[in-house]
Order: sequence, then C-alpha cells, then structure tokens
Amino acid sequence: MGNWFSKGYDSAQEQIASTASKFARDFFLKSGEEVKGVRILDDDSTNIRAHFVKGYGWFTCTQDEDCPLCMRAAQPHSTVGKAQNQFVFNVYDPREFTTKVGDTVNGQVKIWRVGINLLRMLNKKRSKYGPYPYLILEISKLGTGRNTTWNVEVERDENPFTLPEGQKLYDLEEILKPKTKEEIAAILDGGSYDDAPAFENLPFNNDDEDDEEVDWRKT
Ligand SMILES: [Zn+2]
Repeated sequence: MGNWFSKGYDSAQEQIASTASKFARDFFLKSGEEVKGVRILDDDSTNIRAHFVKGYGWFTCTQDEDCPLCMRAAQPHSTVGKAQNQFVFNVYDPREFTTKVGDTVNGQVKIWRVGINLLRMLNKKRSKYGPYPYLILEISKLGTGRNTTWNVEVERDENPFTLPEGQKLYDLEEILKPKTKEEIAAILDGGSYDDAPAFENLPFNNDDEDDEEVDWRKT
C-alpha cells in the first residue's frame, strides 16, 4: 500500500485539485441567465460526437460500429441518447464560484460543448471580430432543449486573453477521449468507478441538438 492519506489543508487542496482533474467542468447556463466576459481560450473547436446519458452527462462516441454507447442507445427505453455532433472549446467563465474546500474564486476554466448552430454563430463573430481568444463574449440563453435560443454579443479585446495565474486549459484530447466498454460498464452498471464524472455542474438536459431549429437573434 502506498500513501493512502495525507495531512493538512494544503494537501487537502492538492488532493481535490488532482482528483478534480479527471473530469471537466461544463460551461452551462440556465434559461434566462446571462454571463458577461466569457472568453474562448482555444483557436478552434475540437469536433466530436457524443452521447448524453441521463444522470451522468456526456460520453464521447468512438464513431465506429464498436461504440458501446451506440449499442446501448439502440435499445428501447435506453437512458443513453443517440450520438450527436459536438464542438468543444475551453472557455473562461468569469462567474464567482466556491470550491469544494470552501474558497471563493473569481472565474474558472470550463469546457463548452456547442451544437452546429451555435458554432456557426461563433464562427461568424470570429470572421467579423478576429480570432476567438480576442473576443469578449456576453452570452445569454433562453429556453431549454429544442426551444433554446442563444444570444452572443461580442467585443474585441486589444490582446488575446491570458489566464489568471494557477489556471490552466483542459487537455481536451485527454478529457474527451472515449471510455472503453469496460469503463462504461463500470460507470453505468457498476455504480462505482474512479473516473465517473462528478455530478456538479453537469448540464441536466440536452441543449444543443444539432438538428434543432434555432431562432437566432441578430446582433
Ligand atoms: Zn456512439
């Protein structure tokens, strides 16, 4: 047996940080919410397909016939949704939050999973105002599911955004890497698995259907 305990507050914080690094916090807005000062931290999106699993959140699709989630999604009354297109960014969410150890922090890096309509909208803003890291976004959302309307207002910063000290980007290739069949079985059937995503900050529904008709407000 190795070191199965540590002592003290600093170690507690390190422990929380290292175990938290196995999952990503999702950028999420409730209907009617508005956030000013959001920054996209990546130059481009990472494009995947993903399944929404009720109660667990998003799981990346392997996009081949071996995808265990596609098999589950095909079963009647499955809690696993069909794979859908997802375009993923690291973003900086400036909202204040409280960590698990009770510290108040201004802003944090999250991952933002957007559908094709929102990606097109962001791409238009980029064409007009410049690369993503220069954009200061004011984002609001109304409605849920297929009736979601996003509004994005943009201002251009003189410089690309730099992260506050101590914060870093998620390694999206690592975070989004599809789980194996065994890992998925352990999470969805076994109920205890180290890499199970934490339930805080998960989107509680599936807001970015790629085929939904969205009535974008022009800005
Ligand atoms: Zn799949």
